[in-house]
Formats: sequence, C-alpha cells, structure tokens
Amino acid sequence: MSRKLTKSNAHFKKALTRLPLGVASNFRYWGDDRTIYVKKGRGGRIWDLDDNAYVDYRLGYGPAILGYADPRVDEAARQGMEVGGVFALSTEREYEVADRIAKMVSSVDLVRFSNSGTEAVMAALRLARGYTGRDSYVILEGGYHGLFDAVLWATSLDRWDPETTDEDPPLVPYSQGVPELVRRLLQITPMNDANRLEDLFRKNGDRIAALLIEPIQGNCCGITADPEYVRAARQLCDKYGVVLIIDEVKTGFRVAKGGVQELMGVEADICTFAKAMANGYQIAAIGGREDIMRKYGNGVAHGGTYTAHSVAIAAAAKTLEILDETPALETIAAYGERLQAGMGRILNDRGIVHSFAGHPSMGGLFFAEEPPTNYRDWKTSDYTFYDTMAAHLHDEGVICEPDSREPWFICEAHDQSCLNDTLAAFEAAVDRTV
Ligand code: PLP
Repeated sequence: MSRKLTKSNAHFKKALTRLPLGVASNFRYWGDDRTIYVKKGRGGRIWDLDDNAYVDYRLGYGPAILGYADPRVDEAARQGMEVGGVFALSTEREYEVADRIAKMVSSVDLVRFSNSGTEAVMAALRLARGYTGRDSYVILEGGYHGLFDAVLWATSLDRWDPETTDEDPPLVPYSQGVPELVRRLLQITPMNDANRLEDLFRKNGDRIAALLIEPIQGNCCGITADPEYVRAARQLCDKYGVVLIIDEVKTGFRVAKGGVQELMGVEADICTFAKAMANGYQIAAIGGREDIMRKYGNGVAHGGTYTAHSVAIAAAAKTLEILDETPALETIAAYGERLQAGMGRILNDRGIVHSFAGHPSMGGLFFAEEPPTNYRDWKTSDYTFYDTMAAHLHDEGVICEPDSREPWFICEAHDQSCLNDTLAAFEAAVDRTV
C-alpha cells in the first residue's frame, strides 16, 4: 500500500508560512513530504486530511488511554464546561479528583494540579528544594522529564564507545538556549547501578535535594529499572535525606492503578502525573507525602492561571473513575500482550531477533535478543531497521513513533479489529524492510 498525502502536503506548505516547521511542536514534523495533519481521532484510530485511516499507537504520547473522543469522558467534559472555566478560585470537584488519586496511589496524601507534565515536574523539583533547603538534583541516563532547562539534558551516545573509554557518556543540553549554568546543579547516573548512586549521595548528599526517576522510561523504549534498584534508591534517599520524586507522567494510571510505584512496591515522596489522568484533556498533578506537600503555601510557590480548569477537572474525575472502577487497565494490558505476541510470531517466522521492554500497555520493541537495562545499551538494538520499518508501517496504516525510543501506547479502544489490522500491516512493513 502507498498512501496519498496530497492534502497534508498542500497544508504543510501553507502551515509553513505561519508555523515553524509547519507544526505546533517540533516532534510533529516528520519531513516535508511525510508530515500529516489529523482530521479526527476516534477510539484507537485517527484519520488524516486525505482520509487515510491509521491505527494509532502514539495516542498523543500516551494520554488517550480510553481511546480518542471517549463518549463517557467527553460528556463529563461538557458538564465541566457548564461550570464556567477558570475563576482564580477553586471549585468543589478538585477535592473529588485529589481524593481519587490519593486512594489509587498509596504514596499520595495531598495533591496539587498543573497543566502539563513539564509544569508538574518543575513544581515537584521546586517543592523538593524548598523542603530540603538544598539545590542540586540527580536524574538517570535516558530519562525525560519535560522541556524546562533544569531537565533538558541528554546523555549523548553519538561518539561514545565503551570499548575505548572508561568515561561516562557526555551529558549535553538537549537544545540550544539551555544555559550551561544550569548544569552545575544537575548530576546524572546510570540506571540500575545502586553503588554509583550511593557514591554520588556519599560525596554530595548534603547538597542534593532530589532524585528524579522514571522507573519505566517512557521516552526510552520502556527501559525498565530493576525493582531492587528502585527499592535501594528509596533506602538511599532516606539515608541521605534526599526527596525521591517518581515521575509517573507516562506510567501513572496506566501500568497499574497505583502506577509504577504499585508495580515495584516502592513509595515516592513526591510523584507527578499527567497523560492518562484525563484521557487527553489538559491537566497534570503533583502528589506526595503530607509534610512535604504542606510546604505549598508555607514557603514554596505554586499556582497558575489555568490550573484545574473546570473542563479538565471534570474529564479527570470521569477518566480516573473508569480506570479505578472498571477492568480497563486489565483490558489494555491484555491488548498489549496480544499485540506483542502477534508481532513476535511474525518476527520469529522470519528469524528476526527481537525483544520487548517496558509494560504491555507501553512496550518498546528492540531488535536485539535482550532489551537493554540501561540507556547505554540502547544501541545494541538495530534501530535503523526499526526506523525503516516504522516508515513502512505508516504507509500501511499504522502509526507508531518514527523513533524507536518511544514505546507503543495501548488504549482501551484498541480492540481485536485494531489489532488484526495492525498485525497485517506489521507483517507487510517487516517484509518491505528486510
Ligand atoms: N515526564 C515524563 C516522564 C514525560 O514522558 C513527559 C512527556 O512526555 C513529561 C514529563 C513532560 O510532559 P509534557 O509534555 O506534558 O510537558
């Protein structure tokens, strides 16, 4: 199959006159002749301007956990609209959402809201600093925590070769415009190496406010921390008075009702949520231990004009109710398992070495025998095969991220017909790639 992108291509040229790269976010540009524009999304599928239909595994980078335009959530959002928007005052239903989150996630006593994952992590980091009176923070290689300067740093594997050096791979700003000054506050360490973490804490513990981690790396193929490592990190944080922030922006209300914390049996001091909590309506949350969270309003600033918009709050209340009270998450995980089993059969039939990482609801596909256990090993996968295959998949009517570092997100609407269409397309795409 080969798609016609006539209308998307024409729109791209027009959009380019008013929008850098013709899009609203750098990540939505896929090349001058491959950038597509969405006409609508329903359930597990989207349609572009040329009426090409796709089964979509990006789900807006995770949010549409129940599927696009879920009627239950959209009806709740319409009722939220009746309330009137934002008021520079609070509304009654914020309590309902906060209470639901606290009951779903055992580490959470109190909740504050924000508008995006970036904003939530930014607020969590400031809270940890305010609480500890320390400035530095530690992140893990391969993690992504949003677009603000403090975390917009990446481990570069480009010219790093473990065969020829004992040095760590260099840490580089992910963007021009990120001040070098910020780097002084940031420490980075490889995942799954508790000795390195302890070393870091021993040498700098009195300056480190927070350890910020994503135990299933939702922007790095779902590379997953050993739960033992996360538990060791928890103990080290306690020992050195470091606040443990678990970034559940992608894993929250997706991999389990209580997020990755429930899966791994670890409680954060502060955690952040966004994506799945309102099926795509714009809201995020910071949750945590009471003594830490009460620093908000007692020395630590938090606010925001659009925080807890009545539409987003209503959508969050309904989405969380569904995720909490129905078997939606089990259904999603089962679809993910079926998808991986089907892909596995197709790859095995062709003798293509592969493995899956992460969680079935957000799984990464590797072309290597074993999935990596830290970002340094990412290049052991044949990611050029992945990139070529992904482009063919788009032509065949399935959208996954063109970059193998983004997992495949599953929603409740990825029913058997979506899965069947996906596997037929996957088989064709693999055959076009080999
Ligand atoms: N944290 C994690 C783990 C994320 O995956 C993301 C976004 O993908 C963010 C933070 C930033 O969220 P947002 O894009 O809503 O600002």
